[in-house]
Amino acid sequence: MTQEAIFKAIREREMKVLNIQVTSSCNYACGMCPFHGDGYSGEYFDERPTIRRDMSLDEIKLILEKASMEGFEWIDLTPNGEFFTHKQWYQILSLIKEFGLKVMITSNGGLLGEEDIKRACEAGVDHIVISVDSLNYESYKKIRKPATKLAFERAIHAPLYFKKYGGDSIYVQIQITEQPEFPHEALGVLNFYKDKGLNQISLKKMFVTGEDGIGHIGVEKLEYTHGKCKAYGSPIVMTDGTVLPCCGAFYFYPKLGEKIPNIFNHTIFESARILDDLYERDSLFVSYCRNCSLYDSSRKAAPVKFIFGDYYAEQTLFETRYFILPKYLRFLPSLAILWIYKKGYARKIKQWLVAAQ
Ligand code: SF4
Repeated sequence: MTQEAIFKAIREREMKVLNIQVTSSCNYACGMCPFHGDGYSGEYFDERPTIRRDMSLDEIKLILEKASMEGFEWIDLTPNGEFFTHKQWYQILSLIKEFGLKVMITSNGGLLGEEDIKRACEAGVDHIVISVDSLNYESYKKIRKPATKLAFERAIHAPLYFKKYGGDSIYVQIQITEQPEFPHEALGVLNFYKDKGLNQISLKKMFVTGEDGIGHIGVEKLEYTHGKCKAYGSPIVMTDGTVLPCCGAFYFYPKLGEKIPNIFNHTIFESARILDDLYERDSLFVSYCRNCSLYDSSRKAAPVKFIFGDYYAEQTLFETRYFILPKYLRFLPSLAILWIYKKGYARKIKQWLVAAQ
């Protein structure tokens, strides 16, 4: 495929997910965090002062109008912080639903009591990802700083309450970030949530960030082909309206200066075209991409599939995703279960069983 064909395909892509960063604040400053903790070589918000703010409801409404008119289907509210610190989180969720859009959020869960979760489910959250890195409070509070016992308890119970109040209409996922100092925490998390009806548990590799890009620890770089990054493409709107093309751009975008579009001056598609041109031609952007390990993670080879205890798992260099085995399959030998999953029969069996009830 020529470079010209690659970029033609990029410009003709379908965009269905819009990430809106409605707040820059967080209840924690975890060491690994590339925004609030030590996980970035500089001072993230000091170097980008215009994004240290909350979006107003009017600004969010304006963006949602554009998203809905331009055919987007999902709003991702995962911020560079914690969505639930925004004082009007319930109104934001309700607004999104008024526009008929689906919503996903990644949260640390530390602020969420049972009543908050019930309200979030009533407002219509479709996909929630809760970060649970450990079930041991002593380890947890070294990772999530400064976590009180209450915040810890809330975080570990949050996935359960989302399932309790959201039922089958919500996809509940737990995300664990592998901690080099606590290498065995994932096992405890997998055991604890085993039969709690959650949809997925994912274990991600730790990464480091700096002015030169994102680097995943212990992962070899692939040969780079410009334009082939699969992490490129879905727009991200920062709290001041700046539109970014990918998570990798969180760090270097100030270097692009006035060239970066703002959603309050453009449609989302106009913003995307401006970013496409920068991605294709801007020498700073191109050289940043060469060092960005999100390129490698997006170009990952087919995952290794295996059975791990009562889970079916898919593993790449950057992430392992675990899906609980239904009880009616667990009596089979692992190889037979694996075959069922590899052939795509697990979903069909589930559909037959539901239809037969
Ligand atoms: S390589 Fe990194 S910076 Fe470049 S498009 Fe992909 S995610 Fe963005």
